[in-house]
Amino acid sequence: MSRKWIRFFTEGNASMKQLLGGKGANLAEMTRAGLAVPPGFTVTTDACRAFYSGEKLPDGLQQELIQSIQQLEGEKRAIFGDKSAPLLVSVRSGSVESMPGMMDTILNLGLNDETAEGLATITGNRRFAYDCYRRLIQMFGNVVRGVPTFHFEQQLHAIKKHYGVTQDQDLTEEALAQVIQAFQVVYKKQTNESFPQDVYVQLYAAVEAVFRSWNNERAKVYRRAHRISDAQGTAVNIQSMVFGNWGMDSGTGVVFTRNPSTGEATLFGEYLTNAQGEDVVAGTRTPEPIVTLSTSSPGIFQQIIEMCQLLEHHYRDMQDIEFTVERGNLYILQTRSGKRTAQAAVTIAVDMAQSGLITKEEAVNRIDISHLDKLLHSTVDEDDQQTLDLLARGLPASPGAAVGAIVFDADTAVEWGKQGRKTVLVRNETTPEDIHGVIAAVGVLTSRGGMTSHAAVVARGMGKPCVCGCEALAVSVSEQLLMVNGRTFKQGDAISIDGATGKVYAGETHLRQPEMTADLLTLLAWADSIRSMQVLANADTPEDAQKAREWGAEGIGLCRTEHMFMAKERLPLMQQMIMADTFEQRSQCLEQLLPIQRSDFEGLFRAMDGLPVTIRLLDPPLHEFLPSSEALLKESMQLEIDIHADLARKLEVKRLLGKVKQLHEANPMMGLRGCRLGLLFPEIYDMQTTAIVQAVQSARQAGANPICLIMLPLIGHVNELKLLRNRVEKIAEQYLGVNHGIGMGTMIEVPRAALTANQIAEYADFFSFGTNDLTQMTFGYSRDDAEGSFLNRYIEQGILKENPFQVLDEDGVGALLATAVQLGTQVKPQLKKGVCGEHGGDHQSIQLCQRLGLDYVSCSPFRVPIARISAAQATLRLRADESETEPLHAEGAKAV
Ligand code: PEP
Ligand code: MG
Repeated sequence: MSRKWIRFFTEGNASMKQLLGGKGANLAEMTRAGLAVPPGFTVTTDACRAFYSGEKLPDGLQQELIQSIQQLEGEKRAIFGDKSAPLLVSVRSGSVESMPGMMDTILNLGLNDETAEGLATITGNRRFAYDCYRRLIQMFGNVVRGVPTFHFEQQLHAIKKHYGVTQDQDLTEEALAQVIQAFQVVYKKQTNESFPQDVYVQLYAAVEAVFRSWNNERAKVYRRAHRISDAQGTAVNIQSMVFGNWGMDSGTGVVFTRNPSTGEATLFGEYLTNAQGEDVVAGTRTPEPIVTLSTSSPGIFQQIIEMCQLLEHHYRDMQDIEFTVERGNLYILQTRSGKRTAQAAVTIAVDMAQSGLITKEEAVNRIDISHLDKLLHSTVDEDDQQTLDLLARGLPASPGAAVGAIVFDADTAVEWGKQGRKTVLVRNETTPEDIHGVIAAVGVLTSRGGMTSHAAVVARGMGKPCVCGCEALAVSVSEQLLMVNGRTFKQGDAISIDGATGKVYAGETHLRQPEMTADLLTLLAWADSIRSMQVLANADTPEDAQKAREWGAEGIGLCRTEHMFMAKERLPLMQQMIMADTFEQRSQCLEQLLPIQRSDFEGLFRAMDGLPVTIRLLDPPLHEFLPSSEALLKESMQLEIDIHADLARKLEVKRLLGKVKQLHEANPMMGLRGCRLGLLFPEIYDMQTTAIVQAVQSARQAGANPICLIMLPLIGHVNELKLLRNRVEKIAEQYLGVNHGIGMGTMIEVPRAALTANQIAEYADFFSFGTNDLTQMTFGYSRDDAEGSFLNRYIEQGILKENPFQVLDEDGVGALLATAVQLGTQVKPQLKKGVCGEHGGDHQSIQLCQRLGLDYVSCSPFRVPIARISAAQATLRLRADESETEPLHAEGAKAV
């Protein structure tokens, strides 16, 4: 039989993810590995795309579905729609990239009034059969026909109340028969048609509904947040049902082969007796930890351990496995790479590499950089008793601490987020509909649901703090109230959560910053052995330099000397110097600044002894250092009316006002900055150079090994560099002799400098790309204003994909970098090149730097560990790309 749109699980394998979706490819792979997977088949993503191009099920699909069901009937010895031996199937979505809970699923398909009775007879369990049937009517009604769930829930609630029970599983057979009837009435009322008794009608409609769920709102939001292409479409997996709700010897669970929060190599998961899968995922009942099975069903527990070992070895990664026990038999329903916290990702990667399951390179490559900064998670400072007002304790679902205002719905979280308010989303349980709120909030807190509930999985995936299953909380969304242990909180009240301990506190707590773990240190050491680019730090003080060195920086790539003058006691001196009328006045100020600068540089060389320290001469946007003209004007007016006013002060204020006016620039970022200032007032750079070389001299005299580089900012024309370098050289020679050993280079941050890099390279030992200014000047966007003005709109409207001040713009700024690299190295092959703008700590930008052939990136100290891993991944990516372009190697790799 030739099929076009469908593949049986026996026909696929793990490499067919694009066609079968992640779930379908895994089901096929597990079937091939001989695991107890209930038989079934996959409708391909091709069929989904064909559905969207025609807005109907593609030609031939119905026929293939009939044929495939017939084949399944043969395997299961049951007949679809038959009363005496009914075949029931699940219909599940399965996209190429995992999108947990975002699309739809229908279980128990194939039940109608007759087959439900048949199932009751052959199982001898009428209660179970009715339970399955009422679940189908509700799911089908909701997913296929869009009937809001609360219509069904209302009926269920009323019947439970009538029978005096609180749990679904306490409903009797008679009560469930009433539920079915009530659900059928709801269905008819809401859809104007009866619940379909023709099982093939059910099947076609379910497949179509799953296709459509690819484009529901929550799936679209999720795809946008995770950068998944809208064009992929979803596969649909149709699988014979096994029943976790058959009785007390049945159940369903989720198991991770390792702990997804800590990475510890112990089984982690949850199990619900006499339940179906969605009970676990939806978080409507709080499940038992998986270890309870070791006493209640030791045989099953042993099989689960073996299954976990087999799957983890097969996939060489931690697995998240859904399983069902039907009357004492274990079935595996799905496995996928488990979502994990950053901490767990590091621990698992290191452990697997150390045990030989994966290579060190794979371990480094597996780290999701966007999670890494969260590794250095904040936690609630439990020593700071004063701010601790412990309210309750829930499950520690996703580590990190969050402090914010309580919001009870996702839309408010988004709205307040836009106003810059930090919020904690507080719900009974979250559903995929809340995804935009989870993205907007700083943390998530739920009163129900386990560690594998939707809230937990999604928050963990985003690296967002989450506490769930906090049963002491009573959340009333309609009244916007949170009640806990007799206390009441309303929307907007402050709350703190710690996702690592599960603790919930009233008010704002003090947070403690995290530390480096041993596993992360191991991984970083591996990254260092792989990467080809150096990682330097942007540090302006000895303290920052020290911190940067501890985080693994291999030197300072940028010391912004103007930052040294921002301290309170230094600012007036700096202002005096800038506002000086004469050379003599300026020289006096500079004389006082010289020893201060020298001791700054001595501190830097001490902290970075033996490592390069790149010092940039002054580049102050002048307006940052001028006194406020409003304040001066006010003072001047007061002095005018004060008959006792000091005349000297009066005159000085007048002079200052005049000076501020004179120095005022309409566009200071494009004004008297950088080398322009150095050329207009050479004595300023002379003082700085003197301070630097004196510091080098004293460090050398003390037996230390200062490695000093001086860098000139904002060069746009080679003559600027030529003149300034000459001056700097002379001072260096004066103190240290001709072989002074100080490297001299330039920032490349004006487009003209990039375009004339061949001329500039003649006078530079290195290029340091100042990508902040280069981005500003390439786009013509003010770096001070654009982000608060139009840039967000540009990104929302898709005009720009990313904020170019965060992620280096490859096509424009990147092209300038490429030109400068090419022109510069033509003239000077040994020219050293790196980035010191904010992009130096951004993962995507680091990948681009590697492709451009740069030698280093320089970033703020706290991003150094991230940059080290990023740079290693960039090297690995480049190696992989290079080997792909060599056909023989590529073939070889495939054969392996
Ligand atoms: C830059 O422009 O990228 C840079 C590093 O310099 P600054 O941010 O100090 O202007
Ligand atoms: Mg700059």
